[in-house]
Amino acid sequence: MDILSMSLEEMTAAFRENSIQTFRAKQVYEWLHKHLASGYDEMTNLPKDLRARLAEEFPVRACVPEKVFTASDGTVKFLYSLPDGDYVESVLMKYKYGYTVCVSSQVGCKMGCAFCASTLGGFKRSLTAGEILSQVYNAQRHTGERVSHIVLMGMGEPMDNFENVMRFISLVTDEKGINLSMRNISLSTCGIVPRIKELMDKHLQLTLSISLHAPNDEIRNKIMPVNKTYGVDELLDICREYASVTSRRISFEYSMMRGVNDSDENARELASKLKGMLCHVNLIPINEVAESPFKPSSPARISAFSAILADKGISTTVRRRLGSDIDASCGQLRLKENKERGGF
Ligand code: SAH
Repeated sequence: MDILSMSLEEMTAAFRENSIQTFRAKQVYEWLHKHLASGYDEMTNLPKDLRARLAEEFPVRACVPEKVFTASDGTVKFLYSLPDGDYVESVLMKYKYGYTVCVSSQVGCKMGCAFCASTLGGFKRSLTAGEILSQVYNAQRHTGERVSHIVLMGMGEPMDNFENVMRFISLVTDEKGINLSMRNISLSTCGIVPRIKELMDKHLQLTLSISLHAPNDEIRNKIMPVNKTYGVDELLDICREYASVTSRRISFEYSMMRGVNDSDENARELASKLKGMLCHVNLIPINEVAESPFKPSSPARISAFSAILADKGISTTVRRRLGSDIDASCGQLRLKENKERGGF
């Protein structure tokens, strides 16, 4: 395992095995996870020869910032390169309550959602815990201010990289590291039911976000292939159970696509299926991706849809779009970069 993905205990054991004094593990761990050092050069209280040896035997496998874009609203988008030559991206957003980083969990995505740019770029591989972590650390280094919230809503399906994502969550909430609050983490999934159950059994205080986007199988099958394996009713059943077991409110993401999922009838069906569940619905006008045919619903349509949900007692917000002038949604930046380089 790479050093940035190791817990302090694992690092200590690895150092012991390699006959490196174990108290060095605590120093290295603090440098990496508290002082956010990007490499051994910065670890000035370590002897030079040890630093050289560690760099050789335990290289820090982090995402390297390649390009940084700042949008007119202050949103910052990072394009990172990986040692194997591919790209991932993350977004830093400033809200009233602090900085939120949206991180990627995979290079590309296997899920095949019809409206999503991450899928268009193809799937390459899952990221290590350290690679996910380094997106947060780099954003914090960039602003010089504490990142308080994390959303796993960048490229990739976190539930398809479950182990590394769980490891990432445990490192980022470690009090010996940046000690982020579990309550300030949102994990978003397209709805892989067995993994949702596994997460439920861990009783974590994070927020589970479900990319629902449709009230029934007929519509959802057309836009999200995962629905053919885990249909809407099965998904909503586990969500209901999750909310009651964890007492945490589920957040449903619903991207509004003109003429696809935005009718009054769709809103009524959605409301009836979510009735009584501890949940919240985020309505988001879909971001147009050049390669896909979907268009955002009009503001009037979104208001009408939202009003129906509210009238039926479903807590609903219409999400602001940040960073839309820098292609800051899911996979758009990687797609552009690959195209510019003649990737596909
Ligand atoms: N794979 C996970 C994590 C990605 S989160 C998931 O599906 O939840 C990214 C969110 O943005 C998801 O809700 C996704 O469905 C949504 N999304 C993808 N492409 C979009 C687009 N073009 N416009 C608006 N939302 C989009």
